[in-house]
Amino acid sequence: MTTIDSDTPAVERHAFEAEVSRLLHLMVHAVYSDKDIFLRELVSNAADACEKLRYLSLADTSLLAGDDSPLAITIAGDAADGRLVVADNGIGMSHDELKDNLGTIARSGTRAFLDSLKDAKEGNQLIGQFGVGFYSAFMVAERVRVVSRKAGTAEAFAWESDGKGTFQIAPVPLDEAPVRGTRVELFLLDDAKAYAEEHTIERIVRAYSAHVPVPIRYRAEGAGETRDLADGSALWVKPKASVTPEEYREFYGHVGGMFDEPALTLHYRAEGRHEYAVLLFVPSQKPFDLFDPSRKGRVKLYVRRVFITDEAEILPGWLRFVRGVIDSEDLPLNLSREMLQKNPVLEAIGKGVTSRVLSELTRLSETDAEAFAKVWDAFGPVLKEGLYEAPDRRDDLFKVARFRTTTSGDGWRGLAEVVKDLKENQTALYYALGETREQVLSSPHLEGYKARGIEVLILTDPVDAFWVRTALGFDGKPFKSVTQGSADLDAIPLTDPAAGESADAGDVAALVTVLKDVLGNGVADVRASARLASSPVCLVASDFGLDKMAEKLMARHEGRDALSAPVLEINPRHGLIKALAAKASAGDSAVRDAAPLLLGQARILDGEAPDNPAAFAAAVADLMEKAFG
Ligand code: ADP
Ligand code: MG
Repeated sequence: MTTIDSDTPAVERHAFEAEVSRLLHLMVHAVYSDKDIFLRELVSNAADACEKLRYLSLADTSLLAGDDSPLAITIAGDAADGRLVVADNGIGMSHDELKDNLGTIARSGTRAFLDSLKDAKEGNQLIGQFGVGFYSAFMVAERVRVVSRKAGTAEAFAWESDGKGTFQIAPVPLDEAPVRGTRVELFLLDDAKAYAEEHTIERIVRAYSAHVPVPIRYRAEGAGETRDLADGSALWVKPKASVTPEEYREFYGHVGGMFDEPALTLHYRAEGRHEYAVLLFVPSQKPFDLFDPSRKGRVKLYVRRVFITDEAEILPGWLRFVRGVIDSEDLPLNLSREMLQKNPVLEAIGKGVTSRVLSELTRLSETDAEAFAKVWDAFGPVLKEGLYEAPDRRDDLFKVARFRTTTSGDGWRGLAEVVKDLKENQTALYYALGETREQVLSSPHLEGYKARGIEVLILTDPVDAFWVRTALGFDGKPFKSVTQGSADLDAIPLTDPAAGESADAGDVAALVTVLKDVLGNGVADVRASARLASSPVCLVASDFGLDKMAEKLMARHEGRDALSAPVLEINPRHGLIKALAAKASAGDSAVRDAAPLLLGQARILDGEAPDNPAAFAAAVADLMEKAFG
């Protein structure tokens, strides 16, 4: 007979948050090739925990009480048992922290991402794009136990789960817990037992974690002694010449939580008014949460080798894809949150590093167009936010900005190239805003530009409508929308001989008068224009209003209809307009019936319905009856 000890505290059972269950399911069923990275994730967490404690203990040395051995990570393997343990004497987790940190997903971007996944196959392809974190342990373990004692407390708890929907938490006696910090125990799956072998562990640590800034040791099961795997010295303070590309890549994996190769590595030491070391990376792959509004930069701030925070926004938001470390020699170690905000030293460092990142990007764009194109593909839309947010950086950003244009095909064009190829008498850089390249290319507004061989920038990123309005121009050439204002293309010679002769100017004027009279307030103006080649009509914005596409985008953004009346432009080279102009000039009042039809057509070409679809359809039917009846 067994008696239940009434002192045994009840084991609590909790269900994982839905997103965690999805992530776990994904992780376990992923045929994700590189399971090795689970160890990198656990080592990263252990290193973070040590660095957090190192920082907090500066203000409160009592946190180190009980274990004054150096902060370190100890990995132990027991191949016979198939057990692997990653332990640290860092900050540790309380009961509630175990429950929250290892039961939910904190980052809203990750949650949204997981919600958006349709199936595991899709997840497989995307899993490499985000830091898989603690839960990756379940790729190799059938059961995971985390025993933790938070620094400065006298209680310890064990978290345990098989990764199948629930986890449990129970208190553990202090003599079964680390004196301080966390011990993650993996009970390895049959086909993953090799991860308990010393040489496998050593290989993975060397490949992924050799330059984590906390020492890593190996301890064979049962042995008291440990062997150093990594010395925990900071890679960024080493001279550049002594660091290998592999070391940079490995450190990038640790600090950025990414799996790709960095496109750009910046390693330097700034001296002068402020002294600091910089080791930063520009990834080559887009992280999944690049446009998550809550996504902050991921640059870690150190002060004299002590990790302070990864929440100080040192670099501007439009460089939020940059990862790495900035280590200041000048800042005080006891930086409070308030001190991090509007700190003049940090601001100066931020400015200096921003300039450096931009000049390195410019250099890459000049020396390796192909590599730079990848960076632009991934981060161009983010860098363009800088055109809007940082007018003082605009000129530098224009040097690296790349565009699709009406003549670029799938290639990228720089503004300097576009300016070099301006047509005779062309005084502006023309752009077309739209939602997709196809949509822009099929717009009638571009006809007159095409007929003159003019290259037009195609702007399809949401941020484009903002910066292009505030930017004054490039190289003395203003930016001008193809759907706004008069087209002033007459001075630029036609290259397309099929464009045909224009109608008599007097006739056109007569038609314009009739159209204005009939359409009244429905249009801001009616005029003949060189903008068109094959279409008879189109709508454009007035000289002083917003670009039409920008207005549409903003109206949609604000949930209202576009308000201002457009300008109706007619093409005096088009057969229909010529015929109507001749009739208008002869005083034929039948021309009046054509007015709403022209406006309706123009709206259809804009992707909209005519103002009165029923009347429009009836009028078309009427015309067809006359033609065919
Ligand atoms: P991330 O490291 O990106 O925050 P993880 O899934 O790797 O995500 O870890 C989740 C959280 O669990 C961490 O943010 C941390 O708060 C906590 N955690 C994980 N491992 C440890 C550890 N060894 N010591 C202290 N806290 C830890
Ligand atoms: Mg982590």
